[in-house]
Amino acid sequence: MTIDAGPSSGDEVASSFLSALDRMGIYVSPSGHRAVHKPLLVLLMLARVQQLRRVRASFDEIEEPLEHLIAEFGRTSATRHRAHYPFWYLKSDGFWTVDSDDALDFREGKSEPKVTALRKLGVTGGFSEPVGSRLLSDDGLIRDAAMRVLRNAFPETRYLDVINAVGLQLSVELAATRRDSAFRREVLRAYNARCGVCGYSGRLGLQPVGIEAAHIRWVCFGGPNELPNGIALCSLHHKLFDAGVFTVSSSNRRLLVSPHFDGADPVTAWLVNAAASKGCLIAPLRVHEHPGESFPGLARKRSVRLRSSVGTPTEAAREG
Ligand SMILES: [Zn+2]
Repeated sequence: MTIDAGPSSGDEVASSFLSALDRMGIYVSPSGHRAVHKPLLVLLMLARVQQLRRVRASFDEIEEPLEHLIAEFGRTSATRHRAHYPFWYLKSDGFWTVDSDDALDFREGKSEPKVTALRKLGVTGGFSEPVGSRLLSDDGLIRDAAMRVLRNAFPETRYLDVINAVGLQLSVELAATRRDSAFRREVLRAYNARCGVCGYSGRLGLQPVGIEAAHIRWVCFGGPNELPNGIALCSLHHKLFDAGVFTVSSSNRRLLVSPHFDGADPVTAWLVNAAASKGCLIAPLRVHEHPGESFPGLARKRSVRLRSSVGTPTEAAREG
């Protein structure tokens, strides 16, 4: 369905746009990984509306920044960083149009044009009328749309990284502590408020500080707020876990670190060495409170290849 000007009021345009973002068609790999290409393109374009007051861009302008974003936050296979997939296929979501379709050369047997044609012809894409106009006159809609996309595609620990990388000015209200308070309480109790990786258990007075309840399968991908889907991690290890730096083998809870994780400091070295010396997750005492083997955020085999750079979890690192 296309959002068209017609007799719609601005408010109807805004609410149709937000609904269309919720329904945005996302490529899902056979192992259940959801591509972040379209969400990143929408966020990049929202940042351009906010900062440059422009609702459309030539493919040339956004190809490089979008491919960098996909490399940073998406899956790592080089062939899949291509910016032209979302640039083209976002057309089917009702709020995006691409100009000069007619002159485009298509790849044989494919429904998307050749990337060279998009560059050569200076093809532009962007928010359709009236969504673009509404975005230009309503900063609140930019914020609401960006939050909608973030919530549907990324875990909260990644929000600020994504916002900064796309260049949005956005103050984010993180709902996790409120929404997941029972989950957090349960996970911290089971792990005795210790990080399952490094054992950190700092408290300020009686309150644990810097300890969080990480979801193995993210809530935005249908992960439940239940103990077997949780691990207590310190803030640093939570962030590294969500970024795909390390995972845990579901069969023996061994730590598996990405071969591309590197750094010249003792904290990085500690994690790399812990994995090399067959270190394991510090699991709860009770077996029934251990991370569930069925959650695809854990690696099933010791030999599983970890993703090659940080970003959202891939089927290799987080979905086994
Ligand atoms: Zn830790």
